[in-house]
Amino acid sequence: MPHVELPRDLLPADGRFGCGPSKIRGAQLEALVTRGATILGTSHRQAPVKSLVGSVRSRLADLLRLPDGYEVIAGDGGSTAFWDAAAFGLIERRAQNLVFGEFGGKFAGAAKAPWLQAPDVRKAEPGTRSSAEPVAGVDVYAWPHNETSTGVATPITRVHGDEGALTVIDGTSAAGGIDFDVAEADVYYFAPQKNLGSDGGLWFAAVSPAAIERIERIAASDRYIPEFLSLKNALDNSRLQQTLNTPALTTLLLLDDQLGWILENGGLTWANARTRESSDALYAWAEASDVATPFVADPADRSPVVVTIDFDERVDAAAVAASLRANGIVDTEPYRKLGRNQLRIATFVSIEPDDVRQLIRSIDYTIERL
Ligand SMILES: *Cc1c(COP(=O)(O)O)cnc(C)c1O
Repeated sequence: MPHVELPRDLLPADGRFGCGPSKIRGAQLEALVTRGATILGTSHRQAPVKSLVGSVRSRLADLLRLPDGYEVIAGDGGSTAFWDAAAFGLIERRAQNLVFGEFGGKFAGAAKAPWLQAPDVRKAEPGTRSSAEPVAGVDVYAWPHNETSTGVATPITRVHGDEGALTVIDGTSAAGGIDFDVAEADVYYFAPQKNLGSDGGLWFAAVSPAAIERIERIAASDRYIPEFLSLKNALDNSRLQQTLNTPALTTLLLLDDQLGWILENGGLTWANARTRESSDALYAWAEASDVATPFVADPADRSPVVVTIDFDERVDAAAVAASLRANGIVDTEPYRKLGRNQLRIATFVSIEPDDVRQLIRSIDYTIERL
């Protein structure tokens, strides 16, 4: 495929704009080599790894400003494993799932487990979103904080349904990049390979006292729960600074460094301002362009961490993405199943706002010459 050679002075310093796995900062990789030298390849049941797990848990608690009684739990298998764990150990009878993209849809799929009532699925077209609505008999209300497949972000406000109903939020691409009040959720779970700039393979969840009570109650019931997917198991192990089975130590090391970096810089408020700066630059550019428009029509729904830009028929977005890739600017392709003439660009906290501005210049230059 022909591509446009970008002049050096237009290139971003770092060309990684993918939505996950996403850019890992150089300092994190250095920490992996230095600090990792005494941790990688050692037992996860001994003090060095346990203290790493402890550090990650307490930094996450700081980052999310956890209220009293909330705890951070962790397990292997990423957010996808968490969905199945939730079907076994968090949903008591029935979930309400908001579905407006791939990831919300996957949790709804897990919530169709045969021991549960069919979930109350509230669908909306990609690029828009649905809202939760209290329904009698629903004990889990679930939606993504940021739908990574479409670039729609949602407000996090507790649903006041039946007494004890839990609000359960997928923060996989939002965690550490969008400010919010975690007290509005009972479970805020995520994998760290998106905005948190680590590697995959693990899930983490901030859980409220009500969620802990639910986890313990279902675990004590006669429902069959596989050991690997047991949230009670995750709770008990997390309190001992470990996971049920061997965790990815690399993921923990990269995550711990990233959390330290965000906290040092000012935590979630700082991260939020930084992702806003980057995403605002892209949305403003698309609004002003005569070939591009933000895919998410309602500005209130536009994600500050995943920016989706549609192009009209004069521009072949796939050719633009391929040309950028040939210049070392990677992963600007849209979510594969969305099938739009689109670029999707991560504006995660690790990505320099200056690099986003360079990316915009690079896209303009490419479009003019393709
Ligand atoms: C990437 C992503 C997931 C899946 O995470 P895995 O760790 O790969 O299972 C789930 N939810 C959202 C919102 C995501 O962006």
